[in-house]
Amino acid sequence: MDLLEHQARELFADHGIEVPRAEITDSPKEARGIARRLGGRVVVKAQVKTGGRGKAGGVELAADPAAAELTARRILGMDIKGHRVDTVMLAEPVDIESEFYVSYVLDRADGRFLAIASAEGGTEIEEVAAARPEAVARIPVDPAEGVTTVVAARIADAAGLPPQTVDTLVRLWQVLTREDALLVEVNPLVRTRQGRILALDGKVTLDDNARFRQARWGDQEPPRGDPLEAAAAARGLNYVKLDGEVGVIGNGAGLVMSTLDVVAGCGARPANFLDIGGGASAQVMADGLSVVLSDPAVKSVFVNVFGGITACDAVADGIVRALETVHLTKPLVVRLDGNNAVRGRAVLDARAHPLVQQATTMDGAARRAADLAHAG
Ligand code: GDP
Ligand code: MN
Repeated sequence: MDLLEHQARELFADHGIEVPRAEITDSPKEARGIARRLGGRVVVKAQVKTGGRGKAGGVELAADPAAAELTARRILGMDIKGHRVDTVMLAEPVDIESEFYVSYVLDRADGRFLAIASAEGGTEIEEVAAARPEAVARIPVDPAEGVTTVVAARIADAAGLPPQTVDTLVRLWQVLTREDALLVEVNPLVRTRQGRILALDGKVTLDDNARFRQARWGDQEPPRGDPLEAAAAARGLNYVKLDGEVGVIGNGAGLVMSTLDVVAGCGARPANFLDIGGGASAQVMADGLSVVLSDPAVKSVFVNVFGGITACDAVADGIVRALETVHLTKPLVVRLDGNNAVRGRAVLDARAHPLVQQATTMDGAARRAADLAHAG
């Protein structure tokens, strides 16, 4: 989950990173009062989950409370790269001497984190990185070691940041690890004319897999953007929406992954990933089927089960009972193999649902499901 700037800022402050005083509002009238409290002059900033707000006119200096109200009125409701501005943050203006860029991001390919830093931060960082990559330092961070003072000094040195930023670099790493973030970015991190180091903008992406232990975000927006994924998540299902037309349900992530490959190998495209897990109860099968069938792109469904601790006859019972609650509108191809496969197939044969077919091999079932999808 991506956080808004003011939420990121709150995390920074909690970990001792200095940020300008600021407040948020959705009302221009209130903006005027906030500006008065902050000393009159304020920076009015759109709160949207996208960068480049400055260039889009979503960050503006207001000279006094009346101007703050007008500016807030203009920015609220604005569209920035498809994001509507519902909230603005008003921040005490800062006397900037230099702007730096710093971030930590998970590098999955490398199995480590990457510190990215530059002495040329600010709104032009993308252009700097493209034109002069040497101006942007990229230093791998060993997750077990983390960013100690020594590592932070190395990052600052490589990027040409002043030594005063070392403390912030260490604290920013604490934000990343203690808050379970996959990305923390400060652009700009500034040095003021008085020599203070402040985070003027922040971007934080939290790891959704850690939401259960980060209680403060519990009542935030649903974790997924896609409505089918949201519906699946609400039922506790491990579902990922894809672009194809063959719905896929399997037990075990590895089996489902290879099922996607086999479906693709038959010239069809999987519509989703859905792992109903080892203990596939009738309820889970019913929930899974109803989510997959509610995807209008789905033309056929391939249920691929390898019976293990939960044997095939139990899964077949689950399918039969699921058919009592789910109105099947599209053909279902079931492949049961493994523990009690013969008994499981007999259970489905006995049910004899006109839209349910069985196949004995994974390849055969995938081909059937692909053909049915093309025919439908
Ligand atoms: P972004 O465009 O979405 O990254 O928004 P930022 O919050 O980074 O703001 C863009 C630019 O506005 C920054 O790089 C600064 O140059 C400037 N800016 C933001 N806040 C202040 C402030 O408090 N004082 C001054 N002087 N400039 C600011
Ligand atoms: Mn920024």
